[in-house]
Amino acid sequence: MEKTLLKLKQVEKYYGNKKNITKALDGVSFEIYEGEFVSIMGPSGSGKSSLLNCIATLDRATSGEIILDETNISKMKAKQLEKIRNQKLGFIFQQFNLLDTLTAYENIALALTIQKTKVKAIDQKIKDIAAKLNIENILNKFPYELSGGQQQRVAAARALVTDPCLILADEPTGALDSKSARSLLERMEYLNNERNSTILMVTHDAFTASFTNRVLFIKDGKLFNELQRGNNSREEFFESILDVMAVIGGGSDVL
Ligand code: ADP
Ligand code: MG
Repeated sequence: MEKTLLKLKQVEKYYGNKKNITKALDGVSFEIYEGEFVSIMGPSGSGKSSLLNCIATLDRATSGEIILDETNISKMKAKQLEKIRNQKLGFIFQQFNLLDTLTAYENIALALTIQKTKVKAIDQKIKDIAAKLNIENILNKFPYELSGGQQQRVAAARALVTDPCLILADEPTGALDSKSARSLLERMEYLNNERNSTILMVTHDAFTASFTNRVLFIKDGKLFNELQRGNNSREEFFESILDVMAVIGGGSDVL
């Protein structure tokens, strides 16, 4: 039987005060199973980043429950959350968030150091993940010496090297040209298949979403539809996603 890795129950997120309130998330419930590659898709302002930040423990939901790997993280104290963040989660953001003064290798190593991985094990782990992301020959370079696509693959390596149980990505291709975007998405697809990594990605872009196996649609903070890729090709899935986006508005940079 499939194992539920992440479960959201009626999650709400409000910003502001009583006089001026924004309901960014309005009763969001869903489950992600181990080994899935899922995207949450919606137009700008629909609540995607708010949702991801609550799951990432970077922000707190106003109400509702978030259960990660059988642990309710919605009411945990900051200290416990930090532990969860370091040990169970991996992040890929639109802006790569690499440290400028460290090489690619050191940026990746840092994630392992924070996790207190034994020094002896670090080098092999970095080499393994670098091979999978095709960045072996740039490990000694600094971020400013790398293209956007290379930087994002280093950021992905940093997110994955700790073997997180869940990888969270917020518009990971948002700052990339289309060729680098495709290459990153193909790598993510591969890691999902090869390492059985569970990935939850939010995006406003149908092309990006078409690489995943299931798409949840969000609008005005509410989930309202879901598409399974099933046995469809990526191209067919892309067309189906566009059809849904045509109904809710937004969805492709090509428009
Ligand atoms: P998306 O990532 O889909 O573009 P967001 O989650 O960033 O959407 O935003 C959802 C809604 O919440 C928007 O109306 C946005 O203006 C609002 N919002 C997001 N972050 C904040 C914040 N820190 N303070 C106030 N309002 C916010
Ligand atoms: Mg966003």
